[in-house]
Amino acid sequence: MMTLTKERVTIKFDRIFKTSKGLLGAVHAVPKAEIAGVSLEEGKTVDINKLHRILGHATEETIRETAKFYKWKLIGKFTACDACRIANARQKDVAKTTNTKSTVPGERLMFDISSVSAKSYGGNKYWGIVVDDCTDKVWTVLLKKKSDLGSKLVTLIKTLKGLGRW
Ligand SMILES: [Zn+2]
Repeated sequence: MMTLTKERVTIKFDRIFKTSKGLLGAVHAVPKAEIAGVSLEEGKTVDINKLHRILGHATEETIRETAKFYKWKLIGKFTACDACRIANARQKDVAKTTNTKSTVPGERLMFDISSVSAKSYGGNKYWGIVVDDCTDKVWTVLLKKKSDLGSKLVTLIKTLKGLGRW
């Protein structure tokens, strides 16, 4: 992978595109204006909670690192916003462990999503893994968006049912 380094900043050309003559390394650049929606020039003062929303509900650490990079002055005290509280509460509703093991193949499928740093040639950025609790059989799916997992799971279940696997 090609990289460009200037002082403490390294840009990685981690978007690899296949061309007829070889590979093309690219970088996804987000203009400052697009990040902010308002102009945030060097030295500008911005409320940390406003920046949290502007940066797509980023964590406090990400906000502070981003502010440091762009030399923005942060004011206010970081408080979890309502949207984040609801999202986190929903996440906790899903049990992460189980003490019972299914005895019926296909009765209980467990899944998780990981992201990959570089998009695949097909433009997939996420990687879903599905495990059948009873048999430990594993399937993987590549996803463009996290929200694509639902339809992929439906397809997987329909395929397995069609095959008469259980
Ligand atoms: Zn938030």
